[in-house]
Amino acid sequence: MEYFNIAETWDRQTIEANQLIRLRGTLERAALTPFYAKRLRESGISPQNLNSLEDFRKLPFTTKDDLRGQYPYGLATVPHSEFVRMHCSSGTTGTPVAVCYTQLDLNTWADLMARCLHMVGVRKSDVFQNMSGYGLFTGGLGIHFGAERLGCMTIPAGAGNSRRQIKLMMDFGTTAVHILPSYALYLGSELESYGIDPKSTSLRVAMVGAEPYTEETRRRIEQTFNIRVYNSYGLSEMNGPGVGFECPEQNGMHVWEDAYILEIINPETGEEVPDGEIGEMVLTTLCRQGMPILRYRTRDLTRIIPGECACGRKHRRIDRILGRSDDMLIVKGVNIYPQQVERILMKFPEIDANYLITLERTNNRDNMKVQAEIRDESFIEDFHALKNIEEKITRALREELLITPKVSLVPKNVLPKTEGKAKRVIDLR
Ligand code: AMP
Ligand code: ZN
Repeated sequence: MEYFNIAETWDRQTIEANQLIRLRGTLERAALTPFYAKRLRESGISPQNLNSLEDFRKLPFTTKDDLRGQYPYGLATVPHSEFVRMHCSSGTTGTPVAVCYTQLDLNTWADLMARCLHMVGVRKSDVFQNMSGYGLFTGGLGIHFGAERLGCMTIPAGAGNSRRQIKLMMDFGTTAVHILPSYALYLGSELESYGIDPKSTSLRVAMVGAEPYTEETRRRIEQTFNIRVYNSYGLSEMNGPGVGFECPEQNGMHVWEDAYILEIINPETGEEVPDGEIGEMVLTTLCRQGMPILRYRTRDLTRIIPGECACGRKHRRIDRILGRSDDMLIVKGVNIYPQQVERILMKFPEIDANYLITLERTNNRDNMKVQAEIRDESFIEDFHALKNIEEKITRALREELLITPKVSLVPKNVLPKTEGKAKRVIDLR
């Protein structure tokens, strides 16, 4: 295995031995904050008496509300002058969740990110265009410093503005991009509208993440551009991107367990679930100096993929994020994830990337509407063909969801588009 960091070659024993050592150090640091000092005291855990990772599970979880409660500096373990940057988690309303980084933290993060990119073959010779929003969102600077760390010529293109993205890609010969799944397919059709075959560019690899997407969407992006697409997972609370990343096997994301402790729990009971079972991911930072976070409930639902990866790395793999526990919709008493809808839609080649789910209540009954943009405009005129696909999609959705949504196909660029993470659901109930 060609590796960037020696930790990629560690066996399980080495990984776990290191976790214990780093965890002790992390607890020592965390105990510098009143918040964690109290929690450690109350649960009877100290860096000195921590003998196994099992002991650590006595510590209560940290929730998003806990982090809000400590905003802005409550969890700082260094004087404020030691911080060199901050980021916020996206999409939150009210008090944000903010993370502050020391220079050491930024270096660790850039190394982790570089390791991810290196794993999928990104090298110094690549031209790396980062198409995610910069600013407070970690997908900008986080990925940027990882690519620079590898020595890539890095283009901080930012989000949106397809015309400029395309010009940069063509002029500088971009070979690797970081891009949101919802934007990737849109960019493909934009290229076509400029008369450029998306397969003809020098692009060869894309890191796609920051929001849930399905295997069908991955394959579609791969085919549109004739490139390889790798799933990238992270969250601001754990630095940002670089927590989990797919290897060339494209079969789950390795979570870097030398830098994070990974647990999957039953969200109701808080108990750890067996490998292979879906639950909520809980993460602990092991290498963060300025703001360690212990047993953080991410609200992201996934499972550990049992068994070893063919690539040889022993860091455990998580499956695609199914969604956040708070993404789940209850419609007519049935639990539904937007991803289930996407999976079905993407099976229809006639359907473009953008879709929207709207939930309404009329006469005390839930109604679910699914609107999807159609790829080929000429279709819109062919009433029978259109109705025929609508019916097929309705049937497929009913089979998957057990309820019958109202499906309507609309022309391209009709549904609202965001520059950041896509908004797939409008709940008017
Ligand atoms: P942020 O608030 O900007 O830090 O966003 C972090 C959240 O984005 C995570 O908790 C996930 O819900 C979501 N996310 C990030 N990467 C992925 C991914 N590859 N697949 C699905 N969801 C993701
Ligand atoms: Zn692997």
